[in-house]
Amino acid sequence: MSFYERPEHEPCVFYNSWKTDSSNNAVLLLLFTATSTIGGEMAVDKKDALTAIISGGSLSGLMVAIVLKRLGFRVTVFERSTTVQSQGAGIVLGKWSTAFFQEFDKTKTEIALYYTLRANYDGFIKEGYINDISAAAVKDDRAEYFMGKTVVSHSYDSHLKAVNVTVRNGDGSEDHFVADLFVCAEGGSSSSREIYFPGLPRTYAGYLAFRGLVPEKDLEPDTAKTLIHSLSRSFSTNLAVPGPNGATTVGNRHMNFVWYNTIPEGAVLDKVLTDINGKRRPFSVSAGYMPQSVVEEEIHPRAFAKLSPQCLEVVMKTKHPFVQVVTDVIASSAVFHDGHVILVGDALSGARPHTTASTNQAADHALRLFLTLKTNTCDLSGLKAEWEPGSLQYSKYLWEIGAAIGNLSQFGDHPMNVDRQMPHRALEEWMKVGEPK
Ligand SMILES: Cc1cc2nc3c(=O)[nH]c(=O)nc-3n(C[C@H](O)[C@H](O)[C@H](O)COP(=O)(O)OP(=O)(O)OC[C@H]3O[C@@H](n4cnc5c(N)ncnc54)[C@H](O)[C@@H]3O)c2cc1C
Repeated sequence: MSFYERPEHEPCVFYNSWKTDSSNNAVLLLLFTATSTIGGEMAVDKKDALTAIISGGSLSGLMVAIVLKRLGFRVTVFERSTTVQSQGAGIVLGKWSTAFFQEFDKTKTEIALYYTLRANYDGFIKEGYINDISAAAVKDDRAEYFMGKTVVSHSYDSHLKAVNVTVRNGDGSEDHFVADLFVCAEGGSSSSREIYFPGLPRTYAGYLAFRGLVPEKDLEPDTAKTLIHSLSRSFSTNLAVPGPNGATTVGNRHMNFVWYNTIPEGAVLDKVLTDINGKRRPFSVSAGYMPQSVVEEEIHPRAFAKLSPQCLEVVMKTKHPFVQVVTDVIASSAVFHDGHVILVGDALSGARPHTTASTNQAADHALRLFLTLKTNTCDLSGLKAEWEPGSLQYSKYLWEIGAAIGNLSQFGDHPMNVDRQMPHRALEEWMKVGEPK
């Protein structure tokens, strides 16, 4: 059987179905052929496929959504954001991400991560990013994606062997759903994870990343070509990323910078993480929300003191920088309630960014899920023994490497300015540990 053929299924439990309006915003239509009440929840007729609700419609949520859809599940993704925001991130596709796209990407066009995933999941086509493909090629009524809907709670009903999920809409109203499988793909700050690991800390690693984007055309002609790393207990990574409407041609791209700075907990960190509304954010301040005083008093002076002329130019020409703190959080298990609830991606383990491999992690979790379920799609109980160990091992492996690189860079005692190969050698040492199979 190829990856793209749909397997046959045993009749399975409940399903809810939704329709969207033409702008893909949520217009919720619950389709019932018969209704009954189960514990105050709405229950619907039995249909021929398992159902999955995915909380979080970013990278890992979408990768798992694609896998489940191809396995024949009816899948619904709830994403709390109301818009797709460019994180300005240059995401490096690693081994498993590449493998994922090789197996599951039907568009076979240039990969624009989020939009390629959406095209393959629910046939959503974003002009400029995904071209030359008809939505009909991938459109499927078993895949729905809703923005502006936050999963606020879930609970397992052991009698029904199903998960009750409550979703809050933008207007504050709530809807209740039932699914066979609940996938928590909520990222590092996951609230659903809290149910299983109350109080699990997401700890500050002691440093943060100032980040931003500059149109390439705003830079001096040679800057993009000659950008170099500047290493003095901080490091800056600069890379070209697609510009407006996915443009990848020279001169039309954006220059993206990620610049790590050690800032101990205290007044300066509080200042950097306080947005224009005076709110102290826990982990990040988005582009456009950083006060100009922070830019002028905390970012620019550091840039002048530490960065090479090319990196400095990028930082100084960034109109709306943003900041993300680097944190550590890793859960010790990923499967709950006999396989009816799973944690994936950063919700399971928010590794530090230095491995540039968290998308790999999302792909690893999704690919393993496919391999585990493809022989018996309806047997979720096998996930604990067959999917969880490898997923946890890979996440732990990434987390350890990321922490080692970050600690070496920010806190290590090493002559960076003398021996520029040292971080590479350190990375190679860590890589000798070998990737888990
Ligand atoms: C500085 C930096 C650089 C990075 N560079 C790279 C790189 O080069 N390569 C790489 O592979 N990775 C990189 N990463 C990491 C990568 O961006 C993340 O690992 C990846 O986005 C994780 O995907 P995720 O889907 O698990 O979580 P997220 O992307 O965090 O997505 C979680 C989603 O869930 C939604 N959500 C949360 N709670 C709810 C709820 N209750 N209901 C509904 N929706 C909810 C959120 O709105 C969000 O959209 C970098 C990260 C940082 C900080």
